[in-house]
Amino acid sequence: MFIDTHCHLTDEYDGGVDAVVNRAKNAGVGIMVCATAEGVDIKPALQIAQSHDNIFVTCGIHPEHTDLNPNDFLTDDVLNNHFVIGVGEIGLDYHFGNQTRDAQIELFEKQIQIAIKHNLPIAIHTRDAEDDTIEILKKYPDAHGVMHCFTSNWKLAEFALGRDFYFSASGILTFKNSESIRENFVKIPNNRIVIETDSPYCAPVPYRGKICEPAFVVETAKVLAQIKNLQIDDLEKILCENTNNLYPKMNLL
Ligand SMILES: [Zn+2]
Repeated sequence: MFIDTHCHLTDEYDGGVDAVVNRAKNAGVGIMVCATAEGVDIKPALQIAQSHDNIFVTCGIHPEHTDLNPNDFLTDDVLNNHFVIGVGEIGLDYHFGNQTRDAQIELFEKQIQIAIKHNLPIAIHTRDAEDDTIEILKKYPDAHGVMHCFTSNWKLAEFALGRDFYFSASGILTFKNSESIRENFVKIPNNRIVIETDSPYCAPVPYRGKICEPAFVVETAKVLAQIKNLQIDDLEKILCENTNNLYPKMNLL
């Protein structure tokens, strides 16, 4: 069984979320982690988790929503919910939001502090912001979690490995021009890797251009098995263990 450790199930999908979850389960993707990004998606995400088996939630505000106050959404009630296993996605995005750097840093730090208070792992989004991500994490030695959809440079990988972070491979791993990302994943130890779709974005080969959905995470697993020289069944077991270690509230093993 595969686990999609980061997907946005509150988005619009062909046939709705029930169809997406069924297609995932038919493809061998038995567990999904629904990530939130804009505050208002937390309630719908929790409803999806409550009405399906094996769907968990991470709650967080993405750096493009610097107008939001995380205290309004990441309340004790929400974070103590049985289905909420982490804080995310949070982080920095200087590719799209170069003008809001200071506000992004403030939002990121506030959410790291909330995660530490609740002893929850964080799912980090970082784009064109490697150095600041490192500097901020240095301020919070207790912060732990995953570099979601990891496409950053080796400098950040090395730092995050030193902090026992996990690295999540998305559909981007399968793209023809992602040679440097594949090289990084070859170097990252097997026990630090998880996989995700980040659906509805970044559909893997051979589904590029389509609306991505959790069923497609199998394609990322196939490429990962290939570059890691692993049998797909062995990789499946390793990824399950890693995901359970990353998100202990899942309590899989
Ligand atoms: Zn995402």
